[in-house]
Amino acid sequence: MRLLLVEDDVALGEGIHQALAREGYTVDWLKDGSRALHALRSEAFDLAVLDLGLPSLDGLEVLKRLRHEGSTLPVLVLTARDSTEDRISGLDAGADDYLIKPFDLNELKARLRALLRRNAGRARLRIEHAGINLDPASQQVAYNGQAVVLTPKEYQLLYELLSPPGRVMTREKLMQLLYGWNEEAESNTLEVHIHNLRKKFCSTLIRTIRGVGYLVEGQP
Ligand code: CA
Repeated sequence: MRLLLVEDDVALGEGIHQALAREGYTVDWLKDGSRALHALRSEAFDLAVLDLGLPSLDGLEVLKRLRHEGSTLPVLVLTARDSTEDRISGLDAGADDYLIKPFDLNELKARLRALLRRNAGRARLRIEHAGINLDPASQQVAYNGQAVVLTPKEYQLLYELLSPPGRVMTREKLMQLLYGWNEEAESNTLEVHIHNLRKKFCSTLIRTIRGVGYLVEGQP
């Protein structure tokens, strides 16, 4: 799960960054609105945590533009603006949820989990495909009824390829979703994970689309 955190308060941002990274998210952190809008337009994220009071472009404006362009990315808004009017304008602008500062990090984590569960299309529902049974709630995976042990990156890669199957996932997008900006990854790391998944499931599960990326066929 790759998450974009947009927060200009360094101390708060560091706290959130650490807490969410520990929770298993790949977290990228930006501190101003224009850069956030650019990143959200050009890169793949599963979720965004967006502060409203931001330098260069207000968080509300970022959200409005994003929604205007048709983005359905789940967004949780952080706001110090404790007035009903501000909360309503945040929700009207397309926020899926909001938290008022100061908040408890455990509450933020719980809200993000709920947001991911609610998010239609990428709902955290059990995925059953080609003999694979993947349960996002427990992160357990079985193949033909037998439990399969995956590393966190293998799990994430399989999850992305199966949500839903039948789409070609580009190398670039998969690398972004798995590693974000901060984690250093070797150039052949994706191939290694794909190789391991083929070994753990079956050699024909994941097709290589030469020069583009990877595909799990829609029809098993
Ligand atoms: Ca702020």
